[in-house]
Amino acid sequence: MTEKQKKKAHVSLETTEPMSFGSGFISGILSSILGIFGLGIVLSLRFPNYFTTEELTDFYSSISILRAVIHVILISSFILGCISTILRANKALGLTGIVCTLIAALLGGSQVEIGGEIGERSAFGLDYFVLSLILYSAVFIPLERLWALRPEQAVFRREWNVDLTYFFMNSILVEVLTFFTLQPSFILFDGARIIYLVETLGSLPLIIQVPILLIVADLAQYWIHRTFHVIPFLWNFHAIHHSAEMMDWLAGSRLHLVDAVVTRGFTYIPIYCLGFSETAIFVYVFLVAIQATFIHANVRWEFKIIQNWIATPAFHHWHHGAEPEAIDKNFSVHTPIWDRIFGTYYMPGRWPKAYGLVGDHKLPNNWLTQMIYPFKKK
Ligand SMILES: [Zn+2]
Ligand SMILES: [Zn+2]
Repeated sequence: MTEKQKKKAHVSLETTEPMSFGSGFISGILSSILGIFGLGIVLSLRFPNYFTTEELTDFYSSISILRAVIHVILISSFILGCISTILRANKALGLTGIVCTLIAALLGGSQVEIGGEIGERSAFGLDYFVLSLILYSAVFIPLERLWALRPEQAVFRREWNVDLTYFFMNSILVEVLTFFTLQPSFILFDGARIIYLVETLGSLPLIIQVPILLIVADLAQYWIHRTFHVIPFLWNFHAIHHSAEMMDWLAGSRLHLVDAVVTRGFTYIPIYCLGFSETAIFVYVFLVAIQATFIHANVRWEFKIIQNWIATPAFHHWHHGAEPEAIDKNFSVHTPIWDRIFGTYYMPGRWPKAYGLVGDHKLPNNWLTQMIYPFKKK
């Protein structure tokens, strides 16, 4: 290894260093997560007009408790960051935590001044990003470590930073994406609402309403998704989702903004026209978020008994498979019944050998250039 390569390895997060207890890895991970969480919440409080999500207003209701929590988080992040940088040759994790903590402290730390009305006219959901990242990583990272399909694949695998940028952008733009998802239906399809159904479906018990909603939404999603695969102009947008060569919970975030808005916008049309209740839609959005993440996860569970009825990781991994027989298969997100009806179901009883784009497709490898890619002349 040359001196330059050695230096590079020192700050890179893609590491072959040990991850066991005592190696500084666990303290480094905890320090980074707590540091990002602490800084995110401090920023949200300092600039609520820019960074707080309306739906999370209740999160700030007990401000004195929140301040105490921030205090503990920042101190823990700093101490863990110091431990990690002492124990570990690769300083990136520990330094991430320390730097985030110091910036948070400069902004006022746990005593930060609240700079406006929380959840009002804010365009960016920084608090939504922070909470989502904490919740998802707390659930999925241990799951993928304990039941990995590919145990050799590290948490910080190749291009994890690209997918984290997608996770960040999709979360921080949550209000904007929701606006563009819902408005077309409100404006164009108000007259198409079937009054009888709106009155009937919307008043059914959730236990009946939610499964119907999932099946209807998945039918719409199935055809939009399939259209994205068939029309070359649209494929340029969707190819970005398929460019991920490693599958894990974060890989599912890799979605072009146009792909996300068009897919969600079209899927929302039947949901709106059929008049499902607000609570049913809320449950649906929650389930989509969980299932769409889970089906990308690096877990080896096969769910053989239910795999014909409920979309599983194996089912969606085959949608991303780089083998010829996997092309244009398994379009559904919730239930494979639509793939089985329309002849695109593929479950050979094993896992794909590789993922990603087939052929000489070479996509740029950062968020911004991938956003521009579909608009460039090929
Ligand atoms: Zn696809
Ligand atoms: Zn996918």
